Amino acid sequence: MERRRDLYPTTVAGSLPKPGWLAEPERLWPTWRLGGPELREAMEDATRIALGEQERAGIDLVTDGEQSRQHFVHGFLAGIDGVDFSKKVRRGIRADRYQADCPTITGPLARRSPIHRDEVRFARAHTARELKITIPGPMTIVDTLYDAHYRSRKEAAFAFAAIIREECAELIAGGVDAIQLDEPAFNVYFDEVEDWGIAALDAALRGLSALLAVHVCYGYGIAANIDWKRGLGEEWDQYARIFPLLAQSCVDQVSLELAGSRVPPEVLAMLGDKQLAVGVIDVASDQIETPEEVAATIALAQRYVSPERIWCSTNCGMAPMRRDVAYAKLRALGAGARLARAHASVTATNLSSPA
Ligand code: ZN
Repeated sequence: MERRRDLYPTTVAGSLPKPGWLAEPERLWPTWRLGGPELREAMEDATRIALGEQERAGIDLVTDGEQSRQHFVHGFLAGIDGVDFSKKVRRGIRADRYQADCPTITGPLARRSPIHRDEVRFARAHTARELKITIPGPMTIVDTLYDAHYRSRKEAAFAFAAIIREECAELIAGGVDAIQLDEPAFNVYFDEVEDWGIAALDAALRGLSALLAVHVCYGYGIAANIDWKRGLGEEWDQYARIFPLLAQSCVDQVSLELAGSRVPPEVLAMLGDKQLAVGVIDVASDQIETPEEVAATIALAQRYVSPERIWCSTNCGMAPMRRDVAYAKLRALGAGARLARAHASVTATNLSSPA
């Protein structure tokens, strides 16, 4: 499903910071401030703000900012049979990069009821923009759980792929324009990506009638990730290993990190004919990008990818950031894309005018 768009359409990786009256600020697993119907109302008010701020910044494809989820993975799992949140096991995730208290898979997985339907219905009713829903991908889900039932990451991942597929079909029927699966685990487990990761991604998405995207990044701007990135060397080679595999998948778009990173930009050319949602906003720094810096990152991407395939996005979710910083960065994203569009139209005019 493709519609005509201006050059460099904009979107966000997914999450935005939650207001301090909704949840503890600047935390990855924040505690809610309220409960019951008051919590639902506060989540909806926060969603209104997240949508409004994105519109104000000129973001074309918006999300609900994940205002109703405590965490991008655990929010999805809360509605699934076979996952027991009362049995948490502390384990190292993302190849032991950090410790997390992971719910346990205790039996066969099944979707008990719609998971994000009500949030999507609310968001759909409160914006006229194109709407994207972000959902954790199968490999990232199994990497954020403790599995006491399947004892096979691959088998559990395919069980989740079937659940994601059911959920996505319903959300699309409810008015969602784009589905993005978040797979930061793809940047960690290369052999598994090749063995079954792409197949599980495709099993979740193939044939769904929406813009289909996958987000693969170097994680939130939290200390554990910043330390990890320091150890990755001068040139990060992870994307070079997985992009050729993603080029063979069914997704329309790959969302990736570029701004302020050590990603060698030539890897962008390895994604075949996919659209690229290029991260032009660094979420690991509180420094607000200028529109010129954003336009320069877009120009860098354009050395390797034709302009029609370029979208502009944030490097990753902004959930753990300061709110004022995150919203200033959103505005920089919108302004930078507008500037790049203006540059492109000047170039086009010069090319078409007689010498
Ligand atoms: Zn990310």
